[in-house]
Amino acid sequence: MNPGAPHASLTFLGTGDSKGVPRFWCDCPVCQEARTNGVNRRGRTATLLRVPLPAGGEGTALLDAGPDTHAALARLPGPLVPDVVLITHAHNDHILGLGDLFDYVRYAGGKLRIYAPPEVVPALADRFPYAFRGAPPVQPIPEAGVTVGEVTLRLFRVPHGANGESHAIRLDAPHWRAAVITDAIDVPTDTAQTWLAELDLLALGTSFEDEGAAPHSGRSVYDVREALDLPWARAARRVILTHLSHGVDVRRDHLLPPDWAFAHDGLQVPLAPSART
Ligand SMILES: [Zn+2]
Ligand SMILES: [Zn+2]
Repeated sequence: MNPGAPHASLTFLGTGDSKGVPRFWCDCPVCQEARTNGVNRRGRTATLLRVPLPAGGEGTALLDAGPDTHAALARLPGPLVPDVVLITHAHNDHILGLGDLFDYVRYAGGKLRIYAPPEVVPALADRFPYAFRGAPPVQPIPEAGVTVGEVTLRLFRVPHGANGESHAIRLDAPHWRAAVITDAIDVPTDTAQTWLAELDLLALGTSFEDEGAAPHSGRSVYDVREALDLPWARAARRVILTHLSHGVDVRRDHLLPPDWAFAHDGLQVPLAPSART
């Protein structure tokens, strides 16, 4: 790989949990800081993959489309139509931005392709019946995944606590591998061995700091303390924690190991080969 070549990257457009930060009803210190446009202000989940193309320009994929997706895309310096949108599961905080994207599918003339796991497509049709009246705007993702430039994106199933199941995203390029898991808890060992080994980058949802804020039994997403104990997370070369509630103050990232960080809205992280030999 040419070391001077531009890298693919992930931009965390929305790093909040399902309710966003600030909570509109809450006056805690994190929500107060968020209200002043601080670093804890978080929209709901949306992540943008950018991949430089050999012929010039870039390929892009939007990973989930939360309710704040329109505002996040509008903040980008130039117009951007993702080539691909992947939806992990049919919760509001991951899909409500689809309304704006559906309106654009027709204008984009085939450039915008939206995929979801086969079992999630009917749930999307139920939620957006008007958009599914003609040709369905969402396709079931093929098992082999979809490609954007040199990156292959695949979805795999993960437990989501009392909510049943969600999906996570595996990204493979010739020189690096990454995974984005926003909504999961109690990931089984065989899933971790198959999908989460030797990652150069792991983006992991950790809504709360520790048990004190929300006990494990009532949660559907990891907390930070649990994430620090996960062997597959510790094995990743770099870890970005996202899907954060007001229970996490990202200014406290000195509490994390050196290769770990909290995401904030707008954070862009290069996807590059690690120094693994
Ligand atoms: Zn979520
Ligand atoms: Zn709060």
